[in-house]
Amino acid sequence: MNHTSIETLPEFDDHTLLVTVVDQSSGLKAYIAIHRGGIKHPAFGATRMWNYPTDGEAIAEALKLSRIMSYKSALAGFKYGGAKAVIVFPKDRAQRSALLAAYARRVNYFRGYFITGADVGISLKDLRLMKKQTSFVVGFRSDPVAYTMLGVFYGIQISLKEVFGSAELKNRSFAVQGLGKTGTELLKLIYPHAKKIYVTDINKARMRSIKQDFPLVEPVAPHDIISQRVDVFSPCALGSVINKKTIKHIHARIIAGSANSQLENIEAGNLLYKKGILYAPDYVINAGGLMAVVDEYEHTHKDDNRLHRKVATIKHTLSEILAKSRRTHKPPHVIADALAEKIAKTFV
Ligand code: NAD
Repeated sequence: MNHTSIETLPEFDDHTLLVTVVDQSSGLKAYIAIHRGGIKHPAFGATRMWNYPTDGEAIAEALKLSRIMSYKSALAGFKYGGAKAVIVFPKDRAQRSALLAAYARRVNYFRGYFITGADVGISLKDLRLMKKQTSFVVGFRSDPVAYTMLGVFYGIQISLKEVFGSAELKNRSFAVQGLGKTGTELLKLIYPHAKKIYVTDINKARMRSIKQDFPLVEPVAPHDIISQRVDVFSPCALGSVINKKTIKHIHARIIAGSANSQLENIEAGNLLYKKGILYAPDYVINAGGLMAVVDEYEHTHKDDNRLHRKVATIKHTLSEILAKSRRTHKPPHVIADALAEKIAKTFV
């Protein structure tokens, strides 16, 4: 990766900061991107650990996801900027604890202007290990995953109401991609009500344990999930699943899930809109986890009612976006991006 070319990457959006973190003794290599904020108020963004084939891909991901965090924070009504950290999956797995400890110590260099938590590839156990080294990790008091998925569930209900005139799940079919923390949580919410649920994960052990816990789900191969003829396709794995190659196979009426950065680009969202598929913007409906960690950061006492009230605002935010989309004949992701960009510009 030629670092001098960062500003030419499509993911670069005049970011505040991009930091490379290397610790040779533990094999740590990470990138921390701060999109907006982080100067007067902290920037929030969870840490992901993934197997990136090249440094360039890891950097692009940190840049892209940190922008989405700014948008998420903006439409959630916060003053905090967006950040993201990605750790390149280590070659030597035995070093995992040392590597996470080294990473957490580097987080201290931001002196509280970068607050992080757990994203894909980071468990609660990992987070506890990091907490021993830095106080700038959150996600312990209220389960961010449960609140993320409560918000996604609200987003699904609002979308169902928009498309079918009723928020009820009983006659509705679903396809869930990814059965990790968020996908499993979604199943807990929809399984008791939905008519049919197709599921998939690239991890076969996850598929087996999900089938045991939710016997009526129908497992399908990973590449088949997107083409299921269902009412709701719920991406709960990685990003860019909606792209020019996959769109022609999508038959769902609604796309609403937890995954960050579901659209490969704006054009992918435009194509969905032309096909008459309602896309509930990812960062609008998956903001519940951010709301939970901000609540932990801002308040010394836990108050579930306060947090539930906050997460419930997602219903109103999405309804407003869909109403504006109807009025202006513009796709929901375009409406959401414009609103979020305007607010994120004010983050310091
Ligand atoms: P996770 O690591 O617990 O689960 C992801 C699952 O997706 C894994 O089981 C993995 O095997 C599977 N997977 C990966 N690629 C796949 C593919 N191509 N097809 C099918 N399955 C695949 O992660 P998570 O916490 O559930 O997060 C999932 C998504 O939700 C991510 O994009 C994350 O950024 C986003 N998100 C998570 C939270 C949260 O609170 N954890 C909050 C907001 C957004």
